[in-house]
Amino acid sequence: MGLGIGLIGERSTLFCEAGSGLRFDRAGSGADNGFRTENASRATSSESNDRRPDRIELSARRTTIVFAMATVTLPTEIQPRSPQGEFRNEPFTNFNSAETARQMTAALDLVGSHLGREYDLIIGGHRLRTEGKIKSFNPAQPSQVVGIHQRAGAEHAEKAMQAALEAFETWSRTSVEIRASLLLNAAQIVRERKFEFCAWLTYEVGKNWVEADADVAETIDFLEFYSREALRLAKAETPIQLPGELDQLMYIPLGVGAVIPPWNFPFAIMAGMTVASIVTGNTVILKPSSDSPTIAAKFIEVLEEAGLPGGVVNFCPGSGASFGNAIVEHPKTRFIAFTGSRDVGLEIHERAAKHQEGQIWIKRTILEMGGKDSTVVMADSDLDVAVDGVVAAAFGFSGQKCSACSRAIVDAPVYDMFVERVREKVATLTVGDPAVNPNMGPVINKAAMDSILNYIDIGKKEGRLVAGGMARENAEGGFFIEPTVIVDVAPDAVIAQEEIFGPVLAVIKVDGFDEALKVANNTEYGLTGAIYTGSRETLDVATREYHVGNLYLNRKCTGAMVGAHPFGGFNMSGTDSKAGGPDYLLLFTQAKSVAEKLGSVPSRAGI
Ligand code: NAD
Repeated sequence: MGLGIGLIGERSTLFCEAGSGLRFDRAGSGADNGFRTENASRATSSESNDRRPDRIELSARRTTIVFAMATVTLPTEIQPRSPQGEFRNEPFTNFNSAETARQMTAALDLVGSHLGREYDLIIGGHRLRTEGKIKSFNPAQPSQVVGIHQRAGAEHAEKAMQAALEAFETWSRTSVEIRASLLLNAAQIVRERKFEFCAWLTYEVGKNWVEADADVAETIDFLEFYSREALRLAKAETPIQLPGELDQLMYIPLGVGAVIPPWNFPFAIMAGMTVASIVTGNTVILKPSSDSPTIAAKFIEVLEEAGLPGGVVNFCPGSGASFGNAIVEHPKTRFIAFTGSRDVGLEIHERAAKHQEGQIWIKRTILEMGGKDSTVVMADSDLDVAVDGVVAAAFGFSGQKCSACSRAIVDAPVYDMFVERVREKVATLTVGDPAVNPNMGPVINKAAMDSILNYIDIGKKEGRLVAGGMARENAEGGFFIEPTVIVDVAPDAVIAQEEIFGPVLAVIKVDGFDEALKVANNTEYGLTGAIYTGSRETLDVATREYHVGNLYLNRKCTGAMVGAHPFGGFNMSGTDSKAGGPDYLLLFTQAKSVAEKLGSVPSRAGI
């Protein structure tokens, strides 16, 4: 049975019909809160096809539909909310203010007293426990357990899929205004509890205050931006109306998606892929990274507080190899939204391409993968600005960003001076527990530390070490690595080609812009890149020829802002989905064109 909910102010009116069809009416008294749309009037006009329920019981927070023999209770707790004006990026917090520093310290204390709690799987709105558990740890103090989570296995994939399919019947037919309201309400909740979410990020993945704040701000931005984008998409107009026809173009949801985020932006990327899926009417199975499931569990709590109906997001921590594979392979999975490493992305791509018995579509994959990002520094650049940009982009969050600058490609006349200034600047960077807000915290786990140290060993043979190069011993056993700079590196060296995902900068000397450009384009990746130069002409050539999804001119290559810098890379960096841009939501929809011969039946009122 299909069910739908339309809300006007506090009131709901529901219509159900047997089978999967659904219509809802938005009629009701009171202001329309800006929610009356073309779609709404189209839905109302088909009312005569609906079977009405026998009785609808409304109360403040619940709507019960009594339909024939069945009684179904739905929460109708999504309070309508309209976007407040044009989209604007959430302002960053100024931690130089004594008051905000006090608030952050208080949040760390508060969250610190909640570490080690156990969280449930949530399937179809029901909370479940499993025998196997996943624990997440504070990478600065690995003996500290941040959260204990259930370990979903392949058997839970089927349950989660059934719950998501059932919820899809309702959610895909819920108005876009209500779906957008969910996101806007969630944005407000996160905004009000910003410091608390920053503190969770500090404990679970080792972000210092500024990095945590940027992750939280981006989460709010995705919620605000995608809600507006969904409303815009719902009003898409067909470019041409043929004479004698009503021609409509509509973007409808795909179905059930598998959302598989990484740990390094465990709030923003996890939330961004999830809410882009659901605001367009899909339902999802969310498998967070095993390094950062707690921040995802906290986000699910936010969505529930904002009124998320059961089954729309099914929260299933689990291993990539068992649960991840199971949801990617499932014949009813319609799309996979993945952000992570190149190798896992390629594996998902291959697995998703294989037709499974009972599968009636080609699975769509939205795959955002790794990077090997360069900054070109030309002799005519402002060298101090370039050094600041390179150091910030190479060592912010210990280089654990897909956009991190891992190669500085430097013009010969300023090479020695650049190296010296970078060395001096890096010597001032502080490394330590992110709870006390140093420049750099730990890397995510022991395996990452071992892999990065191995690359540093390779790099010491491939170039000349001028800064760092060691793990930082500490009593707590945290995974700290010194900011490391290796110079005189050849463009095809291992550390100049492979993603290290840690605080390691390779510096490459080049002779002029043509060579710099060649080197900048010589990896299999194509995510971000930057160039510093005082020449207009050089910037113009770089704009055309520097082959990356996100190019930055005279600024650092990290810190993409939602709306201003739609984000996604070329080549092995992924499918260039451009998160936070005007095309992103299209990836979560399919376009349906409907052409009606006018005059064949009475036209709708107003058309
Ligand atoms: P990862 O590839 O190891 O894991 C990403 C996610 O995939 C995790 O949730 C993991 O559990 C899951 N997974 C692993 N194996 C799987 C499988 N076989 N089937 C299904 N799911 C599976 O990446 P990570 O270490 O979490 O994140 C770091 C990587 O992400 C880096 O390469 C970084 O460049 C990339 N990244 C890219 C972007 C971007 O926008 N392009 C953004 C952030 C991070």
